[in-house]
Amino acid sequence: MTAISEPKIVFDKVGKTFGEGADAFVALQDFDLNIGEGEIVTVVGPSGCGKSTAMNIAAGLLEPSGGHCTVGGVEVAGPGPDRGVIFQQYALFPWLTVRKNVEFGLKLKGMKPAERRERAEHYIDMVGLGDFADALPKMLSGGMKQRCAIARAYAVNPEVLLMDEPFGALDALTRVRLQDQLLDTWARDKRTIMFITHDVDEAVYLANRVIVMAARPGRLQEIIDVNLPYPRNEEIRLSPEFQKIRNQVWHGVYSRSADAA
Ligand code: ADP
Ligand code: MG
Repeated sequence: MTAISEPKIVFDKVGKTFGEGADAFVALQDFDLNIGEGEIVTVVGPSGCGKSTAMNIAAGLLEPSGGHCTVGGVEVAGPGPDRGVIFQQYALFPWLTVRKNVEFGLKLKGMKPAERRERAEHYIDMVGLGDFADALPKMLSGGMKQRCAIARAYAVNPEVLLMDEPFGALDALTRVRLQDQLLDTWARDKRTIMFITHDVDEAVYLANRVIVMAARPGRLQEIIDVNLPYPRNEEIRLSPEFQKIRNQVWHGVYSRSADAA
C-alpha cells in the first residue's frame, strides 16, 4: 500500500441533519476520516447511508451541521478550483462543443489558447471522444456525455477529485476502461481521490482503502485496506487476493443491510 504522508481531506466528527424537530433526519453522524495526499479512497454502502452527503460537504456544496471538514488544511467554506467534482449525471454546458466544454476550466485558470487546446485534446482522446470534439452535447449518448464530463474534470488537474458514482450509468466495458484510465491519470499526477460507487469490484480495484458506510444514521462502519500493488490490471482483478478483499467488502455492505431490512 502507498504510504500516506499528509492527510489531504479530513472529516472530523462531521454530522449532517436535514430538517428540524420531529422531521429532523440524521444523514451523517460523527463521520471521521482522513484521506491521505495522493490516496484513492472509495466509499461504498447501501443507498441513503450518507455517501453523497459526505462528499458534498468536502466539495463545499453542503454545510455540515457539526464537526469540521478541511481540504489541504483549510476549512471548506464553499466550492473551489482545488476540488474537481464529477457526478453520476453529467453536467455539461449544452451550448458548448465537447472541446469547449473541456477547455472551459482551463480558460478560467488563464491557460493560453494553444496550451488549452492541446491539453483538452489529450483528455478528449483519452476518453475516446476524439471524433466528437466539435459535437454539441445533444449529439452525444449519455455515456459519451459522461466521458466528456470526466475529460473536463481531469483536464483541470485539481488537487482533489471528488467522484460520486461517475461510472454508474455506463456499460461494463466502458466502465472498466475508465477505471484503468483513472488509475493511469492518477499514477502520473498522484492527486487525492474520493470515489463513491455501488460496485464492490470497482471499489476494490481502484482503492488504497475502501470505506464501508452504514445507514440510519449514516455513518462509517468499516475501513478495509486494499493491499494490492499498483499498477492494477486484469491479472490482479482475477487474483485470489482481490477476491478475498472483494468478499470482505461485500460482506461489510450486504450483511448489515440485510440485518436492517
Ligand atoms: P447516498 O449517497 O449514500 O445514497 P445521501 O447522502 O444522498 O445518500 O443521502 C443520505 C440521506 O439523507 C438519505 O436518506 C436522503 O434521503 C437524505 N437527504 C439527502 N439530501 C437531503 C435533503 N436535501 N433534504 C432531506 N434529506 C436529504
Ligand atoms: Mg449518493
